[in-house]
Formats: sequence, structure tokens, C-alpha cells
Amino acid sequence: MSLRIAICGIHIESSTFSPHLSGTADFEVTRGQALLDRYGWLGEPWAAEVEWVPLVHARALPGGAVEPAAYDAWRAEIVQGLGEGLFDGVLLDFHGAMSVVGRQDAEGDLITAIRSVIGAEPLVSAAMDLHGNVSPTLFDGCDLLTCYRTAPHVDVWETRERAAHNLVDALARSRAEGADRPHKALVHVPILLPGEMTSTRLEPARGLYARIPEIEARPGVIDAAVWIGFAWADEPRCMGAVVATGTDAEATDQAARELARAFWDARDEFTFVAPTGSMDECLDAALKQGSARPYFISDSGDNPGAGGADDVTYALERMLARPEIRDGSARAVYASLFDPEAVARIGHLPIGSPVSVRAGGRVDGRPPGPLLLEGTLEALADDPDGGRVASVRVGGLSVFLTSRRMQYRLLESYRRLGVDVAGADVVTVKIGYLEPELYEAAADWMLALTPGGVDQDLHRLPYRNLRRPIFPLDRDATLA
Ligand SMILES: [Zn+2]
Repeated sequence: MSLRIAICGIHIESSTFSPHLSGTADFEVTRGQALLDRYGWLGEPWAAEVEWVPLVHARALPGGAVEPAAYDAWRAEIVQGLGEGLFDGVLLDFHGAMSVVGRQDAEGDLITAIRSVIGAEPLVSAAMDLHGNVSPTLFDGCDLLTCYRTAPHVDVWETRERAAHNLVDALARSRAEGADRPHKALVHVPILLPGEMTSTRLEPARGLYARIPEIEARPGVIDAAVWIGFAWADEPRCMGAVVATGTDAEATDQAARELARAFWDARDEFTFVAPTGSMDECLDAALKQGSARPYFISDSGDNPGAGGADDVTYALERMLARPEIRDGSARAVYASLFDPEAVARIGHLPIGSPVSVRAGGRVDGRPPGPLLLEGTLEALADDPDGGRVASVRVGGLSVFLTSRRMQYRLLESYRRLGVDVAGADVVTVKIGYLEPELYEAAADWMLALTPGGVDQDLHRLPYRNLRRPIFPLDRDATLA
């Protein structure tokens, strides 16, 4: 068949409300064979005849907005790579909620740059996170767009494979039958919700996404996708969206309209995935006699998995204010604070050394700012995500400090610092909805509505550029 398809992408979710900035060093960059090795399906029969051309893929943990120079360099590399040959298609592997400092619609800018070099003819297929955004510019520049169908995201690789497979099929149809480009339909849904209200573990998101397989199976429909959108960027494109693609225009339009209507009609039913409260209310519930152990608390406003700075000390300070935690009668864990300087200060000491170290509040210094931890150095380790990490024991509380921003979503990361969460009374973690391992480990769980760059209470965020009206910030929003 001799198709040539380029693969590239810049993958990050960035909060414009976080003071953190994402620079080159925050990204893991893959090129060449290492980029191809990301995709286990390249040897599948449908993919084997294609010449896959790896350009560059840059991926970071969610964070603050991206420094323009970092973005510009990767965009230039993609454009250069595409200019060096002729391509039948491009597979875009990106998140869809990248913000670049001082700019808007970064993925729209990227597709515009890509089209400027490949022209209008090649087909472009985008595989995205359902927390990404679909701007009109991005939609116009792509032929096929799809996104995850689960949150927490357990179908990441399936989604990328589907985007690639649909692209190859569309190119093959056009070669063999002279078929037209796929039809596509976009319906924006004026809803902006945090991911913690739209988990597909629960209704109504579960039922909404459960409609997709039936719709996708209809004659004339290639793919249907629902984007929840990204709430922590102040851009006009941030909102829900539905895209359908197909070989039949009417079936495609109908699919998009139907899913958008279902999303809109469910708007009042979205609620948080767990009981919510202030940090103090969560601690009251967790420390109450008879409550299930281990009791997990999500320090959600500073969740690095959504773009938080990962060093806001508010929740930690509230924990340290509890006498039962300070005197050790309650066993607690705080995971974690990003503070390379604090780790460097204590990282060479013998385990068991008394330490007095100021930690946190360096990137996002909102109150209470850096906290003085006076306790014992409990453990040190090298973590594949967090770099050099340390645990400081203060009374009954183990405070994890990391050299790189990371999220304690895997039990192995806790064990590396000597903690088995099963033995803890309270585990506070900078996260939103619990990722699968923590969800399994938690006997009970609350979501603390803590302050930070990814505040779950959207009413507290200073939006200026959002397209209004939008639900639930405005009650007069309507579906077009
Ligand atoms: Zn996501």
C-alpha cells in the first residue's frame, strides 16, 4: 500500500491559574525508534504496510503554562520534519489542553503550522485526552479527531491505536475506491466541569460514554468522541465538545448532535466523585473514631496531575494542626511536596537524623507558604518520577518531599519511602479522583476542596477569556 504517515505531538495539560511554568526540562522527549517503540500496534496487519515516520514527541506531567521557547522549538522540529518528505497522513498524539505563555489555542497553532507545510491534501488524525479542548481551528485542520472514553484514563493506548487505525483505513479507502475525505461534525457543548465531577466510573458520565459504541457501530459512522474540556485554563476554547467522523454526512451529523444533546441534558446530574469538604472537614471525618482505615483525602486544589504547582502547603498545615497527628496517636501520610532545595538540604544525612527544614511554597507561595518541618529523617529514595525523595517524620505524620513534581498514584512509590498505606489511618495525596491503585487501597475517601492552581471550585477562579455564558458558571447557557 506504501502509505507514509508521520507521528508527532506535544503532550501536556497546563493550568493558566498555576504559577508553575513548564520548561524544556519538564518534558520527556522521544524521537526515532524510541518514538515508534511507544506504539505496540505497529506490527499489526493493518499497520504493517505503512511507513511510520517518527518526528518528535514531547510529553510532560501536567503543569503550568509552557514557556514559549520550548513550544516554538518542538513546533519548528515538527514543521521541519514534515517538510523533508511527502506524507499521506499525520498522526497527532497529544493531550489538547496545552497553554503557551501569552498565547491562546496552542494545538490550533500547531495544526496551522502543520498544514502550512503539508498542505490541504494529507489526512490528519488526532488522538487526545477527553480533558483537552477542540477549538474551531483544530477541528478545521484535522480530518479525524478522537479522545479517551474513560476517566480515570484506562484506554489511553486503545485511543491512540484507534486514531491510527481510522487514519490508515481512511487513506486506504481513498486509494482503493477514490473515496472522499471523512465527513466530520463538531458540536460545542457550553459546559465547563472539573474532571472530578465527570468520572466515567459514575453517572451521568458513565452512561454518556456508554452510548459511544452503539453510535460508532452505525453505518456511515467512523468514530464519535466526547470532550469534557479543561477547566483550568482561561481560554475561549475551554468547554465540552463532541466530534463525530464518518463516511456518511447525515449519519455523522446525527451522531454528533445526539451525543451533544445527551451531554447537555445530563448537565445538572454531574456531582463530585466523592464527598467533598474543606480540609478541616475531611480531617474531622478521617480522624473520627470508627472511620474506615486507611482514609484517603485528595488535596485536589494543588493536584499536579491537573497542573497544580505541587508545593502548596495548605493541606499539610491543617494536618500538622491536629494534636492526634502531632502526638503520634494517629498514623498519617502526606504525599507530597515538591521541594528540591529541601531535599538537597537533608538528602545526605543518615536515616534517623533529626531535621529542621523549611519545605514547600516556593513555586506557589499562597498562604501559609513554606512550612518548617521539625522531625526525623525517616527515609530516602530515588524515585523514577520524583528524583531524590525524602520522608520526614513529624509525630505520626510522614511528609514526603520530592525533587521533581510527581504524583503519588502508585503504591510502589509509597513503599519506596517505607510506607505501606494499609497501615495508615489517614493518607493525604495531591490528586483529584483516586487513580486505580489508590482507589482500591482506600477504605474511605473524601475530596478536599483545597486552594491551588487547579481549584475544584470553579466559581473561585478569575476567568476573563472564557466564552460565556457557560454552565454551571452561568445559568443562561444554552446548547446551540
Ligand atoms: Zn485527562
